Amino acid sequence: MPSIHSLEQLHFDNRFIQQLPADKETENYRRQVYKACYSLVSPTLVKAPQLVAYSQEVAEQLGLSSEVCESDDFQQVFVGNRLAKGMQPYAMCYGGHQFGQWAGQLGDGRAINLGEVLGQHGQRLALQLKGAGATPYSRGADGLAVLRSSVREFLCSEAMHHLGVPTTRALSLVLTGEQVLRDMFYDGNPQLEPGAVVCRVAPSFVRFGSFQIFSSRQDLATLKTLVDFTIRNDFPHLGEPSIEVYGQWFEDVCRKTAEMVAHWQRVGFVHGVMNTDNMSILGLTIDYGPYGWLENYDPDWTPNTTDANGRRYRFGNQPQIAYWNLVQLANAIYPLIEQVEPLQQALQVYSKQFEQAWQTNMANKLGLLSFNPQTDDSLVADLLSLLKAAETDMTLFYRGLADLDLNDAEASFQTLLHASSYAPLNDEVKKMAESWLSDYLQRLKVDARPNQQRRAAMNAVNPKFVLRNYLAQQAIDKAEQGDFSGVGELLEVLRRPYDEQQGKQQFAEKRPDWAKQRAGCSMLSCSS
Ligand code: AMP
Ligand code: MG
Repeated sequence: MPSIHSLEQLHFDNRFIQQLPADKETENYRRQVYKACYSLVSPTLVKAPQLVAYSQEVAEQLGLSSEVCESDDFQQVFVGNRLAKGMQPYAMCYGGHQFGQWAGQLGDGRAINLGEVLGQHGQRLALQLKGAGATPYSRGADGLAVLRSSVREFLCSEAMHHLGVPTTRALSLVLTGEQVLRDMFYDGNPQLEPGAVVCRVAPSFVRFGSFQIFSSRQDLATLKTLVDFTIRNDFPHLGEPSIEVYGQWFEDVCRKTAEMVAHWQRVGFVHGVMNTDNMSILGLTIDYGPYGWLENYDPDWTPNTTDANGRRYRFGNQPQIAYWNLVQLANAIYPLIEQVEPLQQALQVYSKQFEQAWQTNMANKLGLLSFNPQTDDSLVADLLSLLKAAETDMTLFYRGLADLDLNDAEASFQTLLHASSYAPLNDEVKKMAESWLSDYLQRLKVDARPNQQRRAAMNAVNPKFVLRNYLAQQAIDKAEQGDFSGVGELLEVLRRPYDEQQGKQQFAEKRPDWAKQRAGCSMLSCSS
């Protein structure tokens, strides 16, 4: 039951700023910040805040009633116009590797933390406004965010949560009533777009790059302070920090990261910008920029046009990139441990954990009781070749596979492929399909699992509804015209992605032809 009827009743306990070193400078101008984890900074006031949407579940976690969420005060506070009691706004200092290159200091260039709330069940939740104005870390940019990218972040964080993927959450999406200049295509044609602020929520917003920045500057004292703080607050089960515990902590991070990426591969999510500043120390999906969802199964696909040449962050590369990022984190904390073995062992744990999670996920997706490498390695590999060759919609295919009619398997499988593929099925594909189906049927016999049971198990891991790229864009198009119903409708459907949801079929359809080449649908730049 919501127990908070005014934002003044939120209970803040801002450990991050109480226990970690602050930037001594409190003027808000762009600079390099040394020996500090954060800078105090106030959000920029805006003209006319207007609530677009809020997440009921996140509000509940905070104990907020719907009256509070629909009040004028709520939109004022979560756009950054007013601080509620206990809020102490600050921007975090971090660095990162961007597209494989060390980029130096980055930091919260357009994120401003409001503090840490103790939630309904005693859990600690940091609140962070994204797009609330410039900070010392804004470099050459304005600290703002536009509506289209804010809708995408808001909807996708909630969708991911409901899919069972570890992620930062989103409490609210508020228009600022001001215009923001953006060159969406980086082609010298900037346009004014509506500005917006999302309030993100997570136990911690610390990133790999939060540690990297200190070791890159040989500031081992602050590095140690932040590591110890993180272990005590977010990994308390490891006990008091020590050299041994540092190794165990890194292993935990490896494990959590493996679990997260395995989930991405399960649901067909492409993050798009897996820079080390976008890697959460808690293994949460963070920073929803030019992300996308696989439509036609293609491991080489990335929605990020900024990465179109190297395709570093393409779908099939995500597991290796997470590993590469973990290696960078290992390098950053090495000075505290001064031993290579525990770090290397932990990295092996990543690989093992990812492989196991991947195998379990694939077995589940196919309705198998467990993954048997002897038969299932090739079963999965052949399937992925087929899906790629037939340009099959990943979500539609797996969901539909649960309904395979075993009494008339061949025809039923053909129908499924037809319904879910974007390319005509040529003879070669038909052959691949026949051969895979016969292996699959054989494999199902080994498990001898009752049909009903298999179907229910598959439907619990193969979503019917994901945030299809073009659906997000349609909701954005409407919202830009002042009609927020599309955002609300999508949010509602995405709350129960594994349920059939009568009457919602239009959210579970193949990508229409017009969406294939339209900007925002399958091609996105970093401009946001
Ligand atoms: P991203 O690629 O969104 O993860 O951002 C990389 C870095 O650029 C982070 O330090 C962001 O805070 C910063 N950044 C991105 N967009 C802006 C913006 N509009 N204003 C200020 N900083 C930004
Ligand atoms: Mg980022």
